[in-house]
Amino acid sequence: MPGLKIEIIACLKDNYAYLVGDPAAGLCAVVDPSEAAPVEAALEGRRLTHILNTHHHWDHSGGNRELKEKFGAEVVGPEKDRSRIPAIDVGVDEAGGWRFGEYAVRILEVPAHTKGAIAFVFEGAVFTGDTLFALGCGRLFEGTPEMMVQSLAKLAALPDETRVYCGHEYTLANARFAMTLEPGNADLAKRFREIEALRAKGAPTVPSSIGLEKRTNPFLRTASAEIRAALGMETAGEVEVFAEIRRRKDNF
Ligand SMILES: [Zn+2]
Repeated sequence: MPGLKIEIIACLKDNYAYLVGDPAAGLCAVVDPSEAAPVEAALEGRRLTHILNTHHHWDHSGGNRELKEKFGAEVVGPEKDRSRIPAIDVGVDEAGGWRFGEYAVRILEVPAHTKGAIAFVFEGAVFTGDTLFALGCGRLFEGTPEMMVQSLAKLAALPDETRVYCGHEYTLANARFAMTLEPGNADLAKRFREIEALRAKGAPTVPSSIGLEKRTNPFLRTASAEIRAALGMETAGEVEVFAEIRRRKDNF
């Protein structure tokens, strides 16, 4: 999107918050601030106008109160989880969407990691929180495999070139797991090498893209013959295959 710039902020051990801004319009939002200090440092004197939360977990919203007090920023989060979003001002849902100044932002309701989880879709970029990770997906704390399959399908339906900004740097471990299921996937093997090189120099593996995830992320590849053969589930349904992949990752 012309005008909107996205910056990555490393937080805690392996969390990412993001700054999304249009300086000319005086807009500066942070997505999922687990803590205030690294966000303040990244602002370098700019005023924070909005705080966006993909879900209620403390490692995505722990910086809300301090940043709101300091900057008077408006806190935006899932309407369906109002009671669990610290200091929330504006609740959003899929039907209503949201406006960031002049920018129309789509909201996707993507329950399963938490019941109220949402994704923020800007033109060309999606913030997926802990629902879709680079090469992975979130744990099913408050939902079923079927819910997560539906939530991931909503994200996978975005244009292939959409950049994916997720909530954690879990990509190398996710890649190692993915390689156990689909070592014959050339796109995955290539990506694995790229991820190893990035992490060896401490660089982030985000953003990814929807197209790349569809080609390499096992949780979006329940139709893959190689994955199904690896699981011994050649004829199983999509949700069953997803649930087995999730179960194996939980124990990986
Ligand atoms: Zn979470």
